[in-house]
Amino acid sequence: MSLDWKQTDIVFVDQPALGAAERLYLPQIWGGMKTTLRHMFKKALRDRTVVQYPEQERPLRVEIYRGVHRLNRDEDGRVACVACFMCETACPAHCIHIEGAESPWADREKYPIKFDIDELRCIYCGMCEEACPVDAIELTPEFKLVGKSREEMIFDKEKLLMVYEQTKNLKPRKDPAITGYPETGHRDRVP
Ligand code: SF4
Ligand code: SF4
Repeated sequence: MSLDWKQTDIVFVDQPALGAAERLYLPQIWGGMKTTLRHMFKKALRDRTVVQYPEQERPLRVEIYRGVHRLNRDEDGRVACVACFMCETACPAHCIHIEGAESPWADREKYPIKFDIDELRCIYCGMCEEACPVDAIELTPEFKLVGKSREEMIFDKEKLLMVYEQTKNLKPRKDPAITGYPETGHRDRVP
């Protein structure tokens, strides 16, 4: 491969010379401090960031908050998951474990007979939710997660479906028709 360039193609950029004040770095330090102090006083006077939890709580952005997982049910009340393993594959923390089986329903091939998420190992990145083609797995605004043992923090299918029942009014299931998967969700709205 030949390098087809001319000397005139090269632009030399001279390093700007620093003045005496700039060599001391004091103007730059003062400029930075001014910005820090401005934000500090603005926050302290107008926009208080400290809340007295648990008596006070911040308002959560329900649609985007990434808390405890849930497994959604479809419009017929069945688990919406089709056991495609996309979430398990995408999970960087390897905390999802699924066992699929032949589905008893005509509109899908498989469904999960076992679906576990280790909530302690999870880093709440949301990759599982992004990967799911039928919007069956979602993260909820529920963040008060406590348990007395590690085993208790491994959420199985029943527990994940229970979280759906507890949070479905606060955050309704996303419309799976958006994903274009025709066999689940609101089939009549898929083009
Ligand atoms: S939120 Fe991230 S780490 Fe947690 S289960 Fe989903 S993909 Fe894995
Ligand atoms: S990506 Fe969705 S449909 Fe596939 S296994 Fe995970 S939850 Fe089930």
